[in-house]
Parts: sequence; structure tokens; C-alpha cells
Amino acid sequence: TAKESGRGKFCVFSPEMNQRVFEYLWLDTNLRKALEKDQLIIHYQPKVTRSGEVRSLEALVRWQSPERGLIPPLDFISYAEESGLIVPLGRWVMLDVMQQVAKWREKSINLRVAVNVSARQLADQTIFSDLKQALRDLNFEYCPIDVELTESCLIENEELALTVIQQFSALGAQVHLDDFGTGYSSLSQLARFPLDAIKLDQSFVRDVHKQSVSQSLVRAIVAVAQALNLQVIAEGVENTKEDAFLTKNGVNERQGYLFAKPMPAAAFEQWYQRYLARTAR
Ligand code: C2E
Ligand code: MG
Ligand code: MG
Ligand code: MG
Repeated sequence: TAKESGRGKFCVFSPEMNQRVFEYLWLDTNLRKALEKDQLIIHYQPKVTRSGEVRSLEALVRWQSPERGLIPPLDFISYAEESGLIVPLGRWVMLDVMQQVAKWREKSINLRVAVNVSARQLADQTIFSDLKQALRDLNFEYCPIDVELTESCLIENEELALTVIQQFSALGAQVHLDDFGTGYSSLSQLARFPLDAIKLDQSFVRDVHKQSVSQSLVRAIVAVAQALNLQVIAEGVENTKEDAFLTKNGVNERQGYLFAKPMPAAAFEQWYQRYLARTAR
């Protein structure tokens, strides 16, 4: 074999690495084009308050590839972050969401939308000027956008994170800490940032009614959040038992397949009309 004869050392790429390099190159040519050709699409997922109202949605990007079909964000966001393409991609998301919110406003559907923002996007100020410009262009007197930052955003550069949070807040956007509990930030670090809410990661939510460790963690996190005046949003709520535990223990808003999957704007509108009709009774 190659190994026995010493030829193995010339084998630089394993098949697995080859696959990854191939994937990187595929994304490198195609994601840029996707942005130019308008192949990205936003799906919206509602969040439901304790009283059963939907006041806010989360915007989740997907890629409609002619070659591969609908591609989930986990398959291209990290590439976009590494390559820097996340900056124009993030701008597209923000502006597309703003336009959609303006269309909804025309129909008297007044909802806030939370947009995911990567650490890499925070380093340049255009995100604020773009948002301000869009608010002006679309005649918004208030900001209907909230932002979801991950723990890595806060940790990589605390000073920058602090300024960024203040800048978003000054514009009228709420700032939410996404996937809370999965990163390296601690409960004590929460106090340092003027956040509006934390989003409890799905890993705490999954089967929480059966897992005593998750139950303790959820209770502890909610207690700290309440002490710091932060709202708690649970993501990935899939069944009524999880939901019952979370609501009973002080979670303010819930989001998950139990209520609705992320869906295109038109499908969301239909879902919302049905939801309003059902909850009005
Ligand atoms: P995230 O921000 O934590 O979003 C929540 C993810 O959980 C979404 O996955 C959503 O579809 C999924 N989810 C919601 N409810 C349930 C549920 O009940 N069960 C399960 N199993 N999953 C649920 P998605 O849409 O695949 O997005 C994955 C991640 O991609 C997001 O996680 C976010 O980090 C990132 N992402 C999505 N859109 C954007 C974007 O526009 N910009 C940036 N920078 N990142 C984005
Ligand atoms: Mg999110
Ligand atoms: Mg999340
Ligand atoms: Mg998550």
C-alpha cells in the first residue's frame, strides 16, 4: 500500500478534505452570484407572547439554488462569514426585511422583525447607515427591526460589542442575545451589556419537561435575566409539554415548530390571518 511504501506522505488531501475544498470552491463561485441574481429568500417565523399574541418574527435566510434546491443557512453562513460575503449578504437581508415590513404596514400588519447579525458585520459602520437610510426611504418613524447577536459577537471584542449595542438601541432596535448558553459567555457577563432579551438555546428547550438538569438551568437563567431586566425568548419549542414548562417558569416569548415553521412572507400572512381568527374567538 501507499503507506507501507512511504508514498502516503505525498497524499496531501484526504477524500474528506477534497470534499471540503470542493464545497468551498463551489460556494465561492456560486454564493456571490446568488446575491447578484436574487436567489436568496427570507423565511419568517413568529414568536408568541405569554398572552398568545404575535408581535414579532425572526427573519431566517435561505438560498434557492437552481442547481441544488433550497439550501439552509447552516450550509452557507459560515462560508459567508469566512469570506466576508456576510457583509453584503447581511445588508441584503436587512433591506429585504425592511421592504417586507413596509409592505405589511400598508396592510395594517404591524410586526417587528428580528434579524440575525454576525460578528463580522459589526466591524463596519455601514450596517447603521444602511438601516437609517432604509428607515428614512420607507418613511418609518420608529425602527421595526431588532437584532440577534451571538455570544461570540460579545466576546471577540467587548468594546466594539458595547458600542454596537448602544448604536442599535439609539436607532430603536432591540438587541437580543441569540443561542444563549451555547457559547462561552457567562451569566455574569450579561450584566455588562445593555441587552433587551436573551434567546434560550434549543438545547435547553428540547425535552425540558423530562430533563431535570435543563429544568434547573432554565430556572436559573430566567432568574438572572429577570434580575437584569431582560426578556427571555425560548427558541425551538416543539411540543406543548416543553411549552408548558417554559411558560410556567417565566419565559416571555416562545418560538418553534409548535407554533409555526419559518415560511415565506406570503405563507406567513396566511398563517397569521388564520392565527388571528382562531385566537379572536
Ligand atoms: P438561529 O438564529 O438560532 O435560528 C433558529 C433556528 O432554529 C432556525 O434554523 C430555525 O429554523 C430553527 N428552528 C425554529 N424552530 C425550531 C423547532 O421547533 N425545532 C427545530 N429543530 N428547529 C427550529 P435555520 O433557519 O436553519 O437557521 C440556522 C441559523 O442560521 C440561525 O440560527 C442563524 O444563526 C443563522 N442565520 C439564519 N439567517 C441568517 C441571516 O440572515 N444572517 C446571519 N448572519 N445568520 C443567519
Ligand atoms: Mg436567531
Ligand atoms: Mg437562535
Ligand atoms: Mg440556535
